[in-house]
Amino acid sequence: MYLHEFQAKELLCKYGFIVPKGKVIDNVNTLSDIRSCFSGTKLVLKSQIHSGARGKAGGILLVDNNYGLLLNKLETMLNKQLVTSQTDLFGKSVNYVLIEEYVKIEREFYFSIFIDRKIEHIVLFVSSHGGEDIESQGLDSFFTIKLNLLYACYDFHIRELLYFLNLDKDYYFLLKDFIFKLFKLFIDNDLVLLEINPVALFNGRLICLDAKVEIDDNASFRQLKLVSIIDYRQKNFIEVEAEKHNLSYVLLDGNIGCIVNGAGLAMATMDVISLYNGKLANFLDIGGDANEEKVFFAFKVILLNKNVKCIFINIFGGIVRCDVVADSIVSVVKRMNIVLPIVIRLIGNMSKEAINIINDSNLNIILDLDFASAVQKIIYISRKKL
Ligand code: GDP
Ligand code: MN
Repeated sequence: MYLHEFQAKELLCKYGFIVPKGKVIDNVNTLSDIRSCFSGTKLVLKSQIHSGARGKAGGILLVDNNYGLLLNKLETMLNKQLVTSQTDLFGKSVNYVLIEEYVKIEREFYFSIFIDRKIEHIVLFVSSHGGEDIESQGLDSFFTIKLNLLYACYDFHIRELLYFLNLDKDYYFLLKDFIFKLFKLFIDNDLVLLEINPVALFNGRLICLDAKVEIDDNASFRQLKLVSIIDYRQKNFIEVEAEKHNLSYVLLDGNIGCIVNGAGLAMATMDVISLYNGKLANFLDIGGDANEEKVFFAFKVILLNKNVKCIFINIFGGIVRCDVVADSIVSVVKRMNIVLPIVIRLIGNMSKEAINIINDSNLNIILDLDFASAVQKIIYISRKKL
């Protein structure tokens, strides 16, 4: 789950970080109410979307503090789609614009803390040249520290970092405090990513000009405050619908809808489909407790994607009973009057009974118990011209 930049900055403030003075706006009519907050001559208008690279996409504007000009620029930004190199072709809707006082930059740094799955560690990642071109920097140019859950890092790490950033020793305590606060914020809020880029050095202070926060989905049960402020309009509506029904769903760009029980089998199914050059429209794990309601919502969510041309169902009856799933599928296909071709592979616990249920249903469902040939059938269908 992502926060908007303005929400991430509110969180940073709670931990004592310095951020530019700012106000968020979602309606140009309220501009007159907040304008008096800004005394500076220059302001930065920042489109709030769940994506980076906004600067390069025209989503960050530097403007003079002039009412007419501000109004004009805000009208061109609010409620428009912003496409960046990190969004899909449709972009994301700008529901908020953050207005901030312009901060002069002496130097820009990059700081992030994230979970590095490869080395199974929380890592601090720093660059002495932050800003918009961070992606083009080679990984070698970053300073990294593996952070310890108990004490974050040692003093010598801070001294090394000071040296790496080419900062005077007077900055030691400032930098140490900065790192320890970052780490505390990361841990307290169950984050998987905290990225501050750029951190501006100005007049002996470190100022957070941008912030990206990603919260661990698995911790949502104990981060209710953060969850309550998530802007779901930033997410794809199909994924939001799937989440409501506890389905693990990821939208993909193919045309074969896919229903599988178990994440491992779902990934294996994706692999086999792509091995035979097919393209899935989604990843969907309906879990081990697949009952009729779950199957109903699985079909409903899949069919929200208009690219879906046919449906592949792959069920392994380990704990779940194949006959129960088959019953659910037959009843849902009838209930929803689904006419798209369906290929199904059902194997394991009570699969004989399941096969009878499918065969007796008189529905247009192709049954194939062999993984490879079932996959080849669905791919053949997915390529047929309608
Ligand atoms: P991003 O492109 O989505 O990462 O958005 P950022 O918030 O990082 O803004 C892009 C760039 O604009 C930053 O890397 C800065 O160089 C610049 N920028 C943003 N806010 C300010 C500001 O208040 N003062 C100055 N000087 N530059 C800013
Ligand atoms: Mn940035």
